[in-house]
Amino acid sequence: MKSDVVIVGGGVNGCALAYRLAKKGLKVILVERRFLTSGATGACGAGIRQQWSTKENTKLAIDSVKHFEKFSRELGMDIDFRQGGYLIINHDEKEVEQSKKNIKMQRSLGLDVRFIDRDEINDIVPILDVEGMHAIGATFCPTDGHANPFKTTFALAKAARRYGANIMTHTTLTDIVVENHRVKKVKTTNGSIETDAVVNAAGAWSKKIAEMVGIDIPNTPFRKEIMVTERLKLMFEAMVISFKDGIYFSQQKEGHILGGLPIPEEREGYNFMPTFMFLTHMAKTLTRYVPSLKYINMVRHWTGFYDVTPDARPILGESEEVKGFIHCHGFSGHGFMLSPKVSEVLAEYIADDKKDEILDSLSLKRFKTGKFTREKSVVG
Ligand SMILES: Cc1cc2nc3c(=O)[nH]c(=O)nc-3n(C[C@H](O)[C@H](O)[C@H](O)COP(=O)(O)OP(=O)(O)OC[C@H]3O[C@@H](n4cnc5c(N)ncnc54)[C@H](O)[C@@H]3O)c2cc1C
Repeated sequence: MKSDVVIVGGGVNGCALAYRLAKKGLKVILVERRFLTSGATGACGAGIRQQWSTKENTKLAIDSVKHFEKFSRELGMDIDFRQGGYLIINHDEKEVEQSKKNIKMQRSLGLDVRFIDRDEINDIVPILDVEGMHAIGATFCPTDGHANPFKTTFALAKAARRYGANIMTHTTLTDIVVENHRVKKVKTTNGSIETDAVVNAAGAWSKKIAEMVGIDIPNTPFRKEIMVTERLKLMFEAMVISFKDGIYFSQQKEGHILGGLPIPEEREGYNFMPTFMFLTHMAKTLTRYVPSLKYINMVRHWTGFYDVTPDARPILGESEEVKGFIHCHGFSGHGFMLSPKVSEVLAEYIADDKKDEILDSLSLKRFKTGKFTREKSVVG
């Protein structure tokens, strides 16, 4: 087999890139060792937020929302994109100070975001107990929202196939052959593929893929737990989030409350068993935020992996050491929401030789030079 590009990983990022590249006329093969969405994508909350502390994440998210707004029509399948906003709870003056700094930067990029006084919080989400969650204010962006991660990924994969991409599920990438510092070929459980370009979109397993070409990346897998309650009548539209308590939750259009938070002693590693500690910690925190949920049943609880980098920002772009090896990983807890723009930027680089400046600021090199700024607006 031969291909212009081989993409490793059938999550939202791999499928979005397959779609963009195939649409540009490139021959694309995507290999996924299990099924599409079997990684973090199928486990995620699929929240879409533009309120970040770093310019890069904010820009990527703003541009991604513009794509999400068009995706259902463009891809020919409803991805359940809804814009109910994100309400970020502030608990102390330090958080308020950081929020006001963030808002200034976000507004300079054209984002409609504002600071909300304590008394206004219930105008946006009436069921919140402002006292119980120790809120002194919040920030709110009405164009934030969420989409269905399965429908989004399948819609992208389907569109990619329509443009001729070959999406090979149940196919594991086992090795990458490099000659004279250039990618030549990949080996998979379903045969070898000659190619000049391999994209590492393997999420929490990206480190293992990078090792195949002798590159060490500073990514660490962290288990994250998430739960869903039984269906309730529709009560609120915004995603509620607190960086201090680590909690996030929203109500899905079918009525379920979906949310998560990190357990206090979470450690790195590929440990995917759900914990009882999560259930108690989540129940306690959620009912402190919304006491009326006390008698509601959780119906399911599952885990997935964050692929965490030292600055909680993705690693993107072509390797300097191995020509044709392209990084698309390290999304930490926000790879779903950034995927539309990330895939656009990488597709333009691969197909059109056009280099967006974000590929410099988010290159792997930043960890060698030490020139990086940590994203502050993250949970756990
Ligand atoms: C509980 C939880 C909640 C989250 N909430 C949000 C949220 O609200 N908003 C948001 O934007 N993000 C969220 N995230 C993060 C988001 O899910 C990820 O950043 C995003 O899905 C990453 O997508 P991906 O395509 O890069 O990787 P993945 O979806 O992880 O896909 C990587 C794929 O690579 C495959 N693979 C690995 N090794 C190989 C190999 N050798 N050969 C072939 N295939 C291989 C895996 O099977 C996997 O399917 C959350 C994550 C979790 C776990």
